[in-house]
Amino acid sequence: MDFDADIPLEELGESVGALDFTAPISLKGRISNVVGMVSLSYSVSTEILLVCDRCLDEFTEDCSRSFEHILVREEKDLVGEDDVLCEDDSLDMTGLCVSDILMGLPTKILCSEDCLGLCPDCGGNLNRGECKCVKEND
Ligand SMILES: [Zn+2]
Ligand SMILES: [Zn+2]
Repeated sequence: MDFDADIPLEELGESVGALDFTAPISLKGRISNVVGMVSLSYSVSTEILLVCDRCLDEFTEDCSRSFEHILVREEKDLVGEDDVLCEDDSLDMTGLCVSDILMGLPTKILCSEDCLGLCPDCGGNLNRGECKCVKEND
């Protein structure tokens, strides 16, 4: 079974948790049943607002990823880390993709590889040019 869905921003609501989406999530996926094992593979494409851990600036990042899961009906069948419990054959696709995106984020979020961060003295953002205290030390 193939599916194709767009989740508009208004529908993301509370399942978003720590993520701040700036574009609707577009989902494309397939659920297949092979020898009694139901697997779900899907890809998402969206844009999220992140905060750089080093300079605390907000930036948006294109987020296009694909994920795979095994769907199980009962809790006792949960084996692998990527297994998803799908009770009553209902699946919270929005919640799943939000948590997948969240898990896929690096532990250290940087606006760019060579982000200069903040000045330890005045807190100025060094990506926007040298702050006054750097100049005074020269
Ligand atoms: Zn930064
Ligand atoms: Zn400074």
